[in-house]
Formats: sequence, structure tokens, C-alpha cells
Amino acid sequence: MAPGTPASCESHRPPTASPIRCVSIDVEEYFQIEAAHGAIGRERWGDWPSRVRRNMDLLLEMFDRTGCRATFFFLGCVAERHPDLARRCVDMGHEVASHGSMHDRLHRLTPESMRRDVEGCKRLLEDQTGRAVLGYRAPTWSLTRKTSWAVDVLAEAGFRYDASVFPVRHPMYGVSDAPDRPFYLRDSEGSARLLEVPPLTWRVMGRNLAVAGGGYFRLLPLSLMRRGLAQADAQGRPAILYFHPWEFDPGMPRMPLNVTGRVRTYTGLKSAADKLEAVIRGFGGDAGRGWQPIGDHLDRLGAMAESTGVFTLRRQAAA
Ligand SMILES: [Zn+2]
Repeated sequence: MAPGTPASCESHRPPTASPIRCVSIDVEEYFQIEAAHGAIGRERWGDWPSRVRRNMDLLLEMFDRTGCRATFFFLGCVAERHPDLARRCVDMGHEVASHGSMHDRLHRLTPESMRRDVEGCKRLLEDQTGRAVLGYRAPTWSLTRKTSWAVDVLAEAGFRYDASVFPVRHPMYGVSDAPDRPFYLRDSEGSARLLEVPPLTWRVMGRNLAVAGGGYFRLLPLSLMRRGLAQADAQGRPAILYFHPWEFDPGMPRMPLNVTGRVRTYTGLKSAADKLEAVIRGFGGDAGRGWQPIGDHLDRLGAMAESTGVFTLRRQAAA
């Protein structure tokens, strides 16, 4: 449904007509990104200065100024080292969700080790905030056909929604034929189904383009994200955007990355904060207050998923 259509008069509550727009932040340090995985082992994370607090200050101040309330997918090890951050987010009206404990891509885990990883992180965040953790996002969009067993792990751990399946074609992640709107996700060998809330894509020439944030946001013109947002509105799809605290930090130390990693990591850092604020103000209506946490919309997202239906992740090895 397009925003502002008269249909809102017939609905139970007027807000059902407003588009769903969510800013999500994966709370991790710059040295924990996938591009640095080979160059900086976990045992050397302590050698690199933490920058997450400085960058969270910047984001929380921006969100406070614009009225945007966001979903923060916290890495457990970051919450452990900075035990006040998650609580601060909740106190400022944001949602705290899980990005797992140690930023292991799921294909490096087994169902058992993932269970420990997500349960430990969930418990920690719930202890710190006093709130239930409803959502999960896998590191580097690593919930794919190869890791479809993760659906059952997440459902058993008590998550109400997942935001890990990127419906794009990409060499390292993504499920290119997954729906570009909320749906129910199921593993081909499992029985659980899980509400899946995919990031924003722009459908053009028969393909989904990634325009939801991250490197795409910094490397590509803002007009692509604007087109994606406009299309999502016209089609009644929610717009879920994603960013990382380090993307707003031109002063972060330079890591020994390969050329591709350097371009993806260090391009567009200086302008990222202004760009994000322009998006929030430009598409948030009423001074940015149109941006609300994913967890605030679970009823509507669930209803959308009911109409989309169940998407089964057929395991690649069995195909
Ligand atoms: Zn991450």
C-alpha cells in the first residue's frame, strides 16, 4: 500500500498505512569485519584500539537529533567490553538485538557451536538491558543455503525474527531468489519457521540491487538508495537499512587489507554521516520520526510474511 492512501481510513489503526522504515546498526569494531579476517586474527584484536564508543556516540547523537529510533544488532564481545552501551541504546528508545558473540560467519560454526554463540550473546544483552532480545542478524549475511540449519537454531533459541538473508546475487553471501519482502523462512530439513525481514533491495531489470547500506551506501550515489526507498514505498515493502559504527569513522587506523578490502572499507567514510542524516530526514517524515526499530513492527511484518508465504532454503549440498 502506498503511503497516505485513503485505505488507512478502513484499517484498524491509522499507523498501518505508514511505510515501515528501519535503520539497523551492526555494532562491531572495525578490526572484526570480514575483510580483516585473514589479516587480523582474533588473538590480535587486543592490539587494535577500540573505536566503537566514539562511533556509537556519533550515531546516538544523530538519532537523538533526528528522532530516528533504530535497531542495534550487538556483537556479544563488544557488549562485554563496553557493558553500558546496550543499556544506553535501550534508554534512548532503540531496540537491542543480536549479531552473535564473536562475528563468526555461520559456515565456520556447527549447529551446536552456533547455539552456544547465540544463546550466550542473547543472555548477555538481556541481562544488560532488562529487555527480551527478539532479533538476530548473522555476521556478513551468512545465513544462506549452506547454513540453512541455522533457522532451527534461531527458532529454538527464542528469536522472534531474523534479518540475515540478503536477496541478492553476491559471491560471498545472499540467497538471490529469496523474497525481497518479509517472509517465513524454513530449512528444508527442519520444522521451524522463522519470520525473516530482508534488507532493502531495488528491483531493476529483473535483478535485486543491494542499496540498503554498508559499502554500497558509501561507494554508490545516494540516488540508488532513494530509488530503492521509493520503489519499496510504492510496492508496500518495508525498507530495512543497515550500517556499522566504523563506517562513520574517517580516523580509524588503517589495517593491512588487500586492495578490494581497502576500497570497500575506507571509501566514503568522511561523507557517510551527512549522507545518513540526509536519508533519515528525507525519508523519515516529521523530522525523521518515521524510522522505528524492527521489533516495533513485528505484527505488521508478520502479517506481510503471511501473505508472502514460506520460503524453504533448499540445502545446496542436497540439490
Ligand atoms: Zn557484522
